[in-house]
Amino acid sequence: MSTEIVTAKEKGMAQCKMCHLVFQYKPEHANYCPRCDSFVEQRINESIQKCWAWTICSMIAAIPANTFPIMTVLYFGKGQPDTILSGIILLLKFGMYPIAAIVFIASFIVPLAKIGGLFYLLYSLKYRTNLTKQQRTDLYRYIELLGKWSMLDVFVVSLMVTLVEIGNVIEINAGAGATAFGIMVVLTMFAAHSFDPRLLWDQEKPESQATKEEKSI
Ligand SMILES: [Zn+2]
Repeated sequence: MSTEIVTAKEKGMAQCKMCHLVFQYKPEHANYCPRCDSFVEQRINESIQKCWAWTICSMIAAIPANTFPIMTVLYFGKGQPDTILSGIILLLKFGMYPIAAIVFIASFIVPLAKIGGLFYLLYSLKYRTNLTKQQRTDLYRYIELLGKWSMLDVFVVSLMVTLVEIGNVIEINAGAGATAFGIMVVLTMFAAHSFDPRLLWDQEKPESQATKEEKSI
């Protein structure tokens, strides 16, 4: 099946991202869409490098996001700052099981799975692991899907802050970890957006053939 796939790039074509017009691409010029005048690239320039950079930055941001206090729950004026994980344990102690489950999935599982998925995708492209092109594309699809849920936790924390502060018994304050968490989520968004999924199909040719072509150029 793989030998039958011909990409637009191989035909010297490119698609406009704005209006989806497919037209003849001139590699030596800056290309603008003949229909809507948008700047068009066959592949996002330096996509893999940008994605590596954003992924590594989000890995670094994940450290303060998980070690700094994300919120302080004050119960009758007493309380200690909590990180994501200790906060989840506290929520369980208060018997708030559904909220604990949402925070655990949205603020621990989802962001780490997204960063891990991006890292594995980039790693599999660089070191040619046994993943097929279709599996890599599926992996990218899951990463994009996860990204849609990664702000849920910020929503939950802000909702809790507003809801619980209505009473004076329990008070919740957001901590520095929440800022780091927000930064981490934004960085993973940049990472996923800078990755060009069309690259997954470019390397469909066997390695020997690709290297031969590179040498002939
Ligand atoms: Zn266009």
